[in-house]
Amino acid sequence: MTIFLLRDDDANATTDPQRLERAYAPLLDAGHALNLSVIPEVALDTRAPDGVRERFLSEDSPDDDRVVPLTADAPMARWLRAHRVNVEPLVHGLTHRRVRAGTEFGALDEQAAGARMDRGRKLLEAAVHGAVSGFVAPWDAMSNGAIVAASTRFRVLSTSWLDRSKLPVRWWGAHYAERLRKSETLRLGDAWVVRHRGGPIGAELDPSAVASVVDRLAHRAEVCVIVLHHWMFWGSSEPHPVVKALSRALTGKRVYRAADAAHWLDGALFDAA
Ligand SMILES: [Zn+2]
Repeated sequence: MTIFLLRDDDANATTDPQRLERAYAPLLDAGHALNLSVIPEVALDTRAPDGVRERFLSEDSPDDDRVVPLTADAPMARWLRAHRVNVEPLVHGLTHRRVRAGTEFGALDEQAAGARMDRGRKLLEAAVHGAVSGFVAPWDAMSNGAIVAASTRFRVLSTSWLDRSKLPVRWWGAHYAERLRKSETLRLGDAWVVRHRGGPIGAELDPSAVASVVDRLAHRAEVCVIVLHHWMFWGSSEPHPVVKALSRALTGKRVYRAADAAHWLDGALFDAA
């Protein structure tokens, strides 16, 4: 059986939650749980490789070198608290800045990565008035040290590809077993790594192709993570046809919050033993 996680990246202190809610209304109205990877202290000058400012930064926010923490009184934080039953926040790095070698966590040692994770989690937990148990690295880029740091701090770690060279030797056996099963789930200590198979569900996708893409992403997977970016879908005041098609494609499927997925995986592991 496959369970599904909807992961949306890049909400931050500059995000207008009403706009995000409009974009995802078809999913929220259908009762599908959402996992929002929230940037705890967003850097206002984060740029794409082509020099364009990242589209998750509000056009109204100043383009300078400051960082803006998500505080409890920010509209996005209030929205997260109001939707806690069906929307789970995950820690999405600290600032989403390209700290070293083009990413935030791709080239940090365990100590430096852990310090950023701790600060990000503390800020986010203070803003949402509750515990946060999942981590998503910006651009899914994680060094070996960052993977170890995340595995000792979080219950769920969502990322894309992980090869053996990224893992300590003690976890190679689990890695090989996962590659045989293609389950996309890997237990590292107390943490579950849930891998995704890329992000083909974007605004340009033909809505009639969404259901088959979902099937392909889920094939043989124990957990199917579907990665979305709200800023791709919020150009119009009407719900986007791709989001509507995704909501329909998930009808009748188990769409979980990340923390519940970890509990479910604990049980699955117990069943297999
Ligand atoms: Zn991101």
